[in-house]
Amino acid sequence: MAADSAPVAPAGVLIVTGASRGIGAACARAAALAGYRVVVNYHRSRDAALDVVAAITQHGGQAVAIGADVSRQAEVARLFEETDRHFGPVTALVNNAGIGGAILPVEEHNETTLNELFFTNTYACILCAGAAVRRMSPRFGGTGGVIVNISSAAARLGGLPGMAVYAASKGAIDSFTLGLANEVGKEGIRVVGIRPGMIATDILEPMGGAELMERVAPTIGLGRVGQPGEIAQAAVWLLSPAASYLHGTTIDVSGGR
Ligand code: NAP
Repeated sequence: MAADSAPVAPAGVLIVTGASRGIGAACARAAALAGYRVVVNYHRSRDAALDVVAAITQHGGQAVAIGADVSRQAEVARLFEETDRHFGPVTALVNNAGIGGAILPVEEHNETTLNELFFTNTYACILCAGAAVRRMSPRFGGTGGVIVNISSAAARLGGLPGMAVYAASKGAIDSFTLGLANEVGKEGIRVVGIRPGMIATDILEPMGGAELMERVAPTIGLGRVGQPGEIAQAAVWLLSPAASYLHGTTIDVSGGR
C-alpha cells in the first residue's frame, strides 16, 4: 500500500476470499485504498491475513480478517454472517480463493483430487456468489452490488502440463460469470471476471516457481510475468462505477499471453 495515499470516502463492504496472500491480498489492499471496508478472508494463513489487515489499518483503512474454508457451505454462511455483524451486508465480492491442485495427467486423477480442485476453485465461487446475491438483490432487501470472479488464462489455454483439471475448474467460472450475470443483472448486480495470466505468487511453487516463470516469460507478449498488484488494479476498476457497463464478461489481464 502506498504510504502517501489516504482512503477516500467509504465505497462499500467488500469480501475478498483468499486474501491472506498473493492476488487476494493485493486486491484487499488496493480496495481499502479505494475506500472499501474490507473483509480479508483466509483459510490456513491467519498470521498473513492479520498482516494484511494491519497494513490496511495503518494507512487509515478499515479491514477485518475472517477465517473460513470457502469450499464448505457452512463456513461460507458464517463468513457472510460475521461480515454482516462487523461491517453490514456485503456490497462487493472478489471471488479469489483458489488452488493449483494436483499436477497430474488426467488418467491419474480421482474423486479426491477432482473434489479438492472443484470444491475450492468452482463450488466456493458459486457458494460465495449465492451468499452475496442474498444480500445484494432487492428480492432480499438489498440495493445491488458487484461480483468479480477470478478465473485464469488456463481456462482459455487449457493449462500448463498436468493442469487440465485446474483449467476446467476455471473454465466453469467463466460460464458461471455469464450465467449469473444473466440471472441478476436486472437486480442491480454486476458480475464480471478476470482471467489472470502467470502472476508471481506462491501458487506457482509446486510447478517450479522462479524457474517456471523464467521459462515462460519469453512466451508472454510483454516478456514478463505479472505482479499481484496488476490484477488488483483491474479488480478495483471492475468493482468501481467506472466499469458500470461491464457485465457478464471476463477480461484477460495476462500481459498478452
Ligand atoms: P496463492 O498466493 O497461493 O493464494 C491463494 C489464496 O487462496 C490464499 O490466500 C489461500 O488462503 C486462499 N485459499 C485457498 N483455499 C482456500 C479455501 N478453501 N478457503 C479460503 N481461502 C482459500 O494464489 P494466487 O496466485 O494469489 O491465486 C489467487 C487466485 O488467482 C486463484 O483463484 C488462482 O487460481 C488465480 N490465478 C492465479 C494465477 C497465478 O499465476 N498466480 C493465474 C491465474 C489465476 P490460506 O493461505 O489462508 O490458506
